[in-house]
Amino acid sequence: MKAAIMGYGMIGKRLERVARLIWPWRFPCLFKLLTGLNCPGCGGTRALIALLRGKLFLSFLYHPFVPYCALVALLLLGSHAVSRMTGNKKYRLRFDERYTYVGIAIVAVNFLVKNLLLIGFRIDVLEMLPPV
Ligand SMILES: [Zn+2]
Repeated sequence: MKAAIMGYGMIGKRLERVARLIWPWRFPCLFKLLTGLNCPGCGGTRALIALLRGKLFLSFLYHPFVPYCALVALLLLGSHAVSRMTGNKKYRLRFDERYTYVGIAIVAVNFLVKNLLLIGFRIDVLEMLPPV
């Protein structure tokens, strides 16, 4: 399992290098600059980088929507692969709008929790996490 995660991290680093070649700029969040609060997408880029490096838990802490999307994509792609290999369509998962509702709920809860911690306790979770 650890070897698989390390292999995934190696592939992730290569994907990250390609992504930085295509899009080398990292912009600060305009919403955060203007309001001091985290926007609903704050931490998403760092979560993606952490995920590509195989740091799943760190990715979850930065923004849980990113590993959630990766999990849903893996489940859908995996079920289609199993369905094709076995020739049995009963293994194929179909995209369901509930996946979208769960994703919206994850973004909303993440937005509320991180900003309530920021407003109520002056705890900026994103600044406390190790850099990626
Ligand atoms: Zn933001």
